Amino acid sequence: MSYFINNMRRFAGELLSGPPGAIPKRLGSAFGTKLGTGAERLLGASGAGRFVGRTYRGPGLVLMFHEIHDDVEAQLRTGCSPDQLRRVLVALKHEGRDVITIEEALQRLQDPRPKPFALLTFDDGYRDNRDKALPILEEFGAPMTMFVPTGMVTREIYAWWLGLRALFARHDSVDIAAMSHRFDCSDAARKNAAMRQATLWVGTDRLRAAALADTFSAYGISLAGLVATVAMDERELKAFAAHWLVTIGGHTTTHTFLSGLDDASARADIADNRRYLQDMLNAPVRHFAYPYGTPGACGAREAGLVAEAGYATGFTTRPGQLFAAHLDCPHLMPREDTGFANLSSAQLASRLNGSRRAWASRFGNPVAGID
Ligand SMILES: [Zn+2]
Repeated sequence: MSYFINNMRRFAGELLSGPPGAIPKRLGSAFGTKLGTGAERLLGASGAGRFVGRTYRGPGLVLMFHEIHDDVEAQLRTGCSPDQLRRVLVALKHEGRDVITIEEALQRLQDPRPKPFALLTFDDGYRDNRDKALPILEEFGAPMTMFVPTGMVTREIYAWWLGLRALFARHDSVDIAAMSHRFDCSDAARKNAAMRQATLWVGTDRLRAAALADTFSAYGISLAGLVATVAMDERELKAFAAHWLVTIGGHTTTHTFLSGLDDASARADIADNRRYLQDMLNAPVRHFAYPYGTPGACGAREAGLVAEAGYATGFTTRPGQLFAAHLDCPHLMPREDTGFANLSSAQLASRLNGSRRAWASRFGNPVAGID
């Protein structure tokens, strides 16, 4: 380990001996297309992240959370702890970023020298966002937007990720026929590894997700039952939406990979959800997040459909920060994921200082869009 650190220090020394403007190029030639936590550690340990951040740090930063768990290991690291949320809020304060609403962000981006800001977004409509996150947000006076798929509220969603978690958490051995694989889940580490492997296998493939249904029924898992235990219902969501810090946004009806749907189905999945939320809340719903949000799950066609449905913005999960240039493509805004356990200091820093985008884009365009 110390060998690794010494090497990093030596490399960082060489890197920082030239003008800061040359750093991204030198990092790029040294690492080529390799991207990962090693790179994040290097950026963090060498201090190079701060320099890279001069280019890749935008006035705005959008953070993504999902579930908030007191015991993140027991929940197979599918959410983050209240402590991690607090740590992120403290770091944002330290960086001088105001936490504001999306509407205010759209205003600030028009300012030639906007005061730095961050947006907090929570996906899918989990009840623990109200019970665990909101009290912390109240302390900081930090607004949040929750992106809600209709199916979460009605319990009709095909929440395969909740099914997988229940499978691996409850059993010591799980046979997934669609993967032709039997998982040994006899301890916590193996359960976590199985969850990670099966989630990666689904990737952005709608058909693979659907192929898990046989396994869920073979093990007697009711997805509707699982959704009811973790997600807000209509009554809860209405009350939550009335809170002064909360904005509700759209997240499709079925929470599927939109890229796998034909035009008419994708259009309906987006527009029906907006109508459903607006009718329930009796208020306009102006902001949207793509399920999964990766380049494989959404792109130019989906952005067009989101605009057509009447949304002012659409958020992906592409790494990157917000720049004024995003006002020209507001339906493909980047977001940084800070909602999964457990972010190391270097991983958090690379999200906050913009260097994660530098790696993800191979030191390309700081403005994430269609890529
Ligand atoms: Zn989602």
